[in-house]
Amino acid sequence: MGRLEGKNCIVTGAAGGIGLETSILFAQEGANVLLSDISGPALEKASAKLKEIVPSAKKVDTKIVDVSKESEVQAMVEHVDAWGGVDVIFNNAGIMHADDADAVDTPEKIWDLTQAINVKGVWFGSKHAVLSFRKHGKTKASVINTASVVALVGSATPQLAYTASKGAVLALTRELAMVHAREGFRFNALCPAPLNTPLLQDWLGDDAAKRHRREVHFPTGRFGEAIEQAKAVVFLASDESSFVNGTDFVVDGGMTKCYTTAE
Ligand code: NAD
Repeated sequence: MGRLEGKNCIVTGAAGGIGLETSILFAQEGANVLLSDISGPALEKASAKLKEIVPSAKKVDTKIVDVSKESEVQAMVEHVDAWGGVDVIFNNAGIMHADDADAVDTPEKIWDLTQAINVKGVWFGSKHAVLSFRKHGKTKASVINTASVVALVGSATPQLAYTASKGAVLALTRELAMVHAREGFRFNALCPAPLNTPLLQDWLGDDAAKRHRREVHFPTGRFGEAIEQAKAVVFLASDESSFVNGTDFVVDGGMTKCYTTAE
C-alpha cells in the first residue's frame, strides 16, 4: 500500500476492463485519480465502483473525454492542474472495431477511426502530459501507453488497422522515452495478451471455435485478467520502476514466447 502516495494520476478508457482495474489499484496505492472515458454513464458506474471498493480513496474525479480530440485531452490534463499537476498518465483508451479485417476488406473509415483513437489519442495524451510535467516542474513522471501483443507477433486472424495502430504505439513510446529521459519523464508501453474484458469477449461472443483458436496459444490455456495488467501498470507508474524506460512491457502469460500448447 502507498506505492503511489501523493501522485496525481490520469487514466483514459477508465470505464473499461484494464482502465477500471488500474484506477482502483491506483486509488488503493494512495494516488489521486482522474478517470476519463468517452462514455459518461460507464464512467459514473466506474467511479461509483471505485469509491465503493476504496472508501479511503483520496481525490477521485471523472471527465468525459474523447482521446481523439486534442482540446478534450488538453482539458483533461489541465483538470489536474488544481491538484498540483499530473505525475502519471495511463493512455489506455483504445478500440478494436468489429469491421477491422485484412488489407482487402478493412474499410478506410475504420482504419482512420482506429488510428485516430489508438494512435493520435496516445500522442495527444503524451503531448499534454509533457507540457504539464514541465509547467509544474516535475523531475519524475511516468507515462504508460497501452499497446498489445499484436504489435510484436502477427495475428493470423486479421485486424490490420488495430495491429498497425498498436505497432505505432510501441514506436512512438520508445522514441518519447529517449527524447525525455533527461527530464526524468519515463515512457513505457504495456503489451497485454488477449484478456477477459468486454473489448475482446463481446467480439468472441459464443463462437467456441473462435475462442479456442486463441486459448491454445496460451501456455496456461487461459486468457489474461485485466487485474493482471493493472498490477503491471502500478509498477510502471511507481518509482519502483525508476530505471525502466522505453520498454515493450509484455504481460501475456508467456504467449509470445510459446510455439504451441496442448491439443
Ligand atoms: P474495454 O473495451 O473494456 O475498455 C476500453 C475503454 O475505452 C472503454 O471504456 C471505452 O468506452 C473507452 N474508449 C473507447 N473509445 C474511446 C475514446 N475515443 N476516447 C476515450 N475513451 C474511449 O477494453 P480493455 O480491454 O480494457 O482495453 C484497454 C486497452 O487495452 C485498449 O487500448 C486495448 O486495445 C488494449 N488491449 C486489450 C486487450 C484485450 O484483450 N482486452 C488486449 C491487448 C490490448
